Amino acid sequence: MRAEIVKMSAEHLNMEEIQRAGRILKEGGLVAFPTETVYGLGGNALDSRSSIKIYAAKGRPSDNPLIVHIADIEKLSEIVTEIPEKAKILAEKYWPGPLTMIFPKTDIVPRETTGGLDSVAVRFPSDRIAQELIRAAGGFVAAPSANTSGRPSPTMADHVMEDLGDAIDMIIDGGQVGIGLESTIVDFTEEIPVVLRPGYVSLDMIREVLGDVRMDKGLLITDSSVRPKAPGMKYRHYAPQADLTIVEGEMDAVVRVINEFAAEAAAQGRQVGIIATDETRDKYPLGVVKSIGSREDEDSIGHHLFEVLREFDHCQVSAIYSEAFFTPRIGQAIMNRLLKAAGHKIISVS
Ligand code: AMP
Ligand code: MG
Repeated sequence: MRAEIVKMSAEHLNMEEIQRAGRILKEGGLVAFPTETVYGLGGNALDSRSSIKIYAAKGRPSDNPLIVHIADIEKLSEIVTEIPEKAKILAEKYWPGPLTMIFPKTDIVPRETTGGLDSVAVRFPSDRIAQELIRAAGGFVAAPSANTSGRPSPTMADHVMEDLGDAIDMIIDGGQVGIGLESTIVDFTEEIPVVLRPGYVSLDMIREVLGDVRMDKGLLITDSSVRPKAPGMKYRHYAPQADLTIVEGEMDAVVRVINEFAAEAAAQGRQVGIIATDETRDKYPLGVVKSIGSREDEDSIGHHLFEVLREFDHCQVSAIYSEAFFTPRIGQAIMNRLLKAAGHKIISVS
C-alpha cells in the first residue's frame, strides 16, 4: 500500500475529499492530516483496532497513550467523567488550539487508545482541515504525531510520506504547519494541574489563567529514576542519525567552540553539521550550516526545529552541533525537544 495524497488548503477546503477521508477513518483506516502543531496520524479513537493499527504503523510502544482529538466542545463529556472548573477556564482561553488536557476517561474510550490508562488526553485543534476531518469521522480521532516512533515530528506532508507512506491509507497535504512543536499537555487528574509536556502554550501563560500549576518533576530532573508522568516523555525521541551535541553559553564562546569542533573534523577529512540562526550563520566558515530561524522571532525557531533535524539525515555529516535556544516564551518547549534529540548532551562554554 502506498498512501494516497490529497492536497488542500484551509482556505479552500475540499469537503468531498474530507468526507471520503472521514469514511476511511470510520471504516478503521488511517489518515494523516495537518494540525496547527504537527501532522497527526489519525484513526478512530473509539475503535480499539484502529488504535492498535496506529501503534503498529508508528512502531510506537503500546504503553504510550494517544491523544484524542475533538472538534466540538460538547463531545468532551462523552469521553471524560469529570471536567474540573480550572480545565473549563483553560479550555475557554486556549481551545481550539495547541493545548492537550488529561481527564479520567469514560468506558467508551478503549484502553488500547489510552495505553492501558484510566485517563484520556484530549485536544481540540484549531486547524480547519483537522476540525472538518474529525467531524466527518464521527467526532473522536486518535492522532499521535505522524512520524515513525523516535524520529522528529512531521511538519509537512513529505515528512509523513517518508516515514509512513507504506503503512497508511491517505495523507491530507495542507502544506507546512504553523507552530511546528507538539501541544502543551496539562494533567487535570491531580489536585493541582501539572504540565507533562511543554509546548506553545507556556507554563507562564497557564499560570496567568489558573494560578497554581506544577511542572512534572520527571521533566525537570535528568535523573532517570524519576519517571515523567506522560509515558511518552521517557522515550528517546526526535534524534537525527548523526550524534547531536548542544553548545550553550555566551554567544561568541558558543560560535568559537563549534568552529573548533568543525576545524577538528575537517582536519580529519570529516564534516560536521551546525544548527545556527540567521544572526550567526555567517560566523561558521566550515561544515554544513543550517539556520533554524531568527533569535528576533522565537516562533521561527520552533517552526523549523524538526525540519532542520530531518534535513541532516540527508546530509553526510559525522556529528551535529547546535546552539541552544532558551528563548523567553517557548524556549522551554524548544529545548525540551532539542535536549531529547541530543540525548541530553549539552556542553556549557564561557
Ligand atoms: P504524541 O501523540 O506523539 O503527540 O504524544 C502524546 C504524548 O501524550 C505522549 O508523551 C503520551 O505519553 C502523552 N499522553 C497521552 N495520553 C496520556 C495520559 N492519559 N496520561 C499521561 N500522558 C499521556
Ligand atoms: Mg510524537
